[in-house]
Amino acid sequence: MYDYLIVGAGLFGNVWAHEATKRGKKCLVVDRRNHIGGNTYCENVEGINVHYYGAHIFHTNDKDIWDYVNSFVEFNRYTNSPVANYYGELYNLPFNMNTFYQMWKVRTPEEAKAKIQEQIEAANIKEPKNLEEQAISLVGTDIYEKLIKSYTEKQWGRKCVDLPAFIIKRLPVRFTFDNNYFNDRYQGIPIGGYNKLNEALLEGIDVRLGVDYFKNRAELDASAKQIVYTGQLDEYFDFKLGYLEYRSLRFEHQTLDTPNHQGNAVVNYTDGETAYTRIIEHKHFEFGTQDKTVITHEYPQEWTPGQEPYYPVNDDKNDKLLREYRKLVDAETNVIFGGRLAEYRYYDMHQVIGSALAKVRKHFGE
Ligand code: FAD
Repeated sequence: MYDYLIVGAGLFGNVWAHEATKRGKKCLVVDRRNHIGGNTYCENVEGINVHYYGAHIFHTNDKDIWDYVNSFVEFNRYTNSPVANYYGELYNLPFNMNTFYQMWKVRTPEEAKAKIQEQIEAANIKEPKNLEEQAISLVGTDIYEKLIKSYTEKQWGRKCVDLPAFIIKRLPVRFTFDNNYFNDRYQGIPIGGYNKLNEALLEGIDVRLGVDYFKNRAELDASAKQIVYTGQLDEYFDFKLGYLEYRSLRFEHQTLDTPNHQGNAVVNYTDGETAYTRIIEHKHFEFGTQDKTVITHEYPQEWTPGQEPYYPVNDDKNDKLLREYRKLVDAETNVIFGGRLAEYRYYDMHQVIGSALAKVRKHFGE
């Protein structure tokens, strides 16, 4: 008899399993996929760790979380510095002095600020009514037109004038020549890929892969005293109140017979004609020197039930449904719900690890 059945071998489930095992408990982890790691899973192709479910860059300001992950695997010094491609024009991201030089040939922060301010004033938007007006009132028309508009429309599958203003609260603008995308103190990629982290978390723990909880529910429930559930919240309740909606993605992985395709891990395509939003070249996450390279085209997609769920849609309709499902969660006594799917919220990796550690401490009364 196990103390805990953990449904889902993603970061939440794996941290939970590791911490419970450390406290002398016996755990069984099951996942319906044929691998561990959830969305952080890397597939080794030509010696390159391919981020199979989308590019994953670890970043955090929390020293405890950074020390925690580094206790399982060493991280490299990768710094996320994406490049935008707008009809062949290249711009550094996030918006910084390099971007402004590329856009307007301005060389000083004063010149860049004046250019942005001039465009904001010309647009004369007092109260932004939609995402387009909000973005222009923050960064002006050139940056909006070339680097925000079409990229955002591809991501959301809707026109910026039809998207609410609140989606963009701030647009970080940096008046230094600094292409580091994140402001966090710590950042990197596990040396050897994310599988190393997940394997270390699950070391010595029973794992069954290719096992769908719902297809084996009675047997699995009987095998453990308590359940930690990290799958989709609505699915746990057999979708009885309706479907929580997601935005989905499609990835096309491709191996190329060249050592270096685009010279950067992440290139965003910000024009409206290219159907994909990004090309990821995975070897650059780990400074790879292999003869070949693996690239992934990322296409945003509408989500229909049964498709891979990626980003929760936190609009009024789904938030209301979520509140109804949460009432059912409160009535479920022997199950701990955690992670991005069971909580129906977007978590970065450091956040989901933090959430799992906090729930463990609470559960064990520490
Ligand atoms: P998951 O990793 O989704 O794990 C849940 C697991 O449960 C899955 O393996 C699933 O197969 C399994 N499961 C579900 N239902 C069942 C069932 N019925 N039976 C058995 N198993 C089941 N975070 C960052 O910090 N940096 C990034 O750069 C970053 N990039 C991202 C890019 C994309 C495209 C996406 C979608 C997310 C990104 N994230 C990033 C977020 C990161 O992926 C999550 O924080 C993390 O994966 C959440 O872990 P989890 O355990 O909650 O969920």
